[in-house]
Amino acid sequence: MAKRKKIVVITGGAGFLGSHLSDRFLKDGCKVHCIDNLITGNMNNIKHLRKNKDFTFKKHDVSKEIKITGPVDYVLHFASPASPVDYLNYPIQTMKVGSLGTLNTLGLAKLKKARYLIASTSEVYGDPQVHPQKEDYWGHVNPIGPRGVYDEAKRFAEAMTMAYRRYHKVDAKIIRIFNTYGPRMRIKDGRVVPNFIDQALNGKNLTVYGNGKQTRSFCYYSDLVDGIARMIRSRYSGPVNLGNPDEFTILQFAKLVLKMADTKSKIVYKSLPVDDPKTRQPNIALAKKLLRWQPKVKLEQGLADTIEWFQDQYPAKKK
Ligand code: UDP
Repeated sequence: MAKRKKIVVITGGAGFLGSHLSDRFLKDGCKVHCIDNLITGNMNNIKHLRKNKDFTFKKHDVSKEIKITGPVDYVLHFASPASPVDYLNYPIQTMKVGSLGTLNTLGLAKLKKARYLIASTSEVYGDPQVHPQKEDYWGHVNPIGPRGVYDEAKRFAEAMTMAYRRYHKVDAKIIRIFNTYGPRMRIKDGRVVPNFIDQALNGKNLTVYGNGKQTRSFCYYSDLVDGIARMIRSRYSGPVNLGNPDEFTILQFAKLVLKMADTKSKIVYKSLPVDDPKTRQPNIALAKKLLRWQPKVKLEQGLADTIEWFQDQYPAKKK
């Protein structure tokens, strides 16, 4: 008898990462049920999949009960606003999807006896006092600051995932995703990569917050998706950091965008958002060891591809 295709539920499946994951699991020969309430997701990200018979889309808020008929093999919980600007616009939804959404997706995994993977985040480390960040670091988070809605929701999500793992024996995994970028990021999502590219391509000045000495480490989406695909198929539960350890100051990053986007834009300085982490760099020793994974795409290469994709979003500006 022919083996049945694996069935994957991806929440946030119309978002930046969720849509790339949908592509990946379909390519790997799975069926994908994509669920998204579209508050930050976008149907354009999945329009090329709508005719694929192995793909379904349901507009649904996973903070409410999730009903799926038939078997499910993997549940990937990726639904959440993911940009600091979005946390301010959708603070309650961010907390609900990280708490109730996690509870509901874990419940689905338990019911279907499916493997589970939660997209946690480097934000669980807050404004870290340990550098680079290793999985055994407990973090430095302000629960009542503007970022607290995301950080604490994800910390709760991790605790809930561990509870389901320990108590209900759900095969549940945690990954902590560090800054990731690439095509399909929302142009106006407020994060540094889309902001700088959008500004550079439109001849506007790049808005560096603070003095630009804060650091981030940028992972290209294809590397991240590969790490996730390895993790869900592995026997490890994590938490495992997934990110690119190449660290840059935001000022260095701004200068790189200026160089690569061929623009007359300049740099302007704006005030630093509250609780903006000063440093961020993943220690990926665990992912290297357990998953035999490490990022391959250098920032210049990923940035070139991302800039090209952004250019295509402004047809009038295309050369
Ligand atoms: N940032 C910036 N200019 C912008 C947007 C962001 O200088 O237009 C900075 C921000 O203050 C932070 C870093 O870039 O230090 C990364 O911000 P982002 O919103 O992308 O995500 P975060 O890593 O803070 O979650």
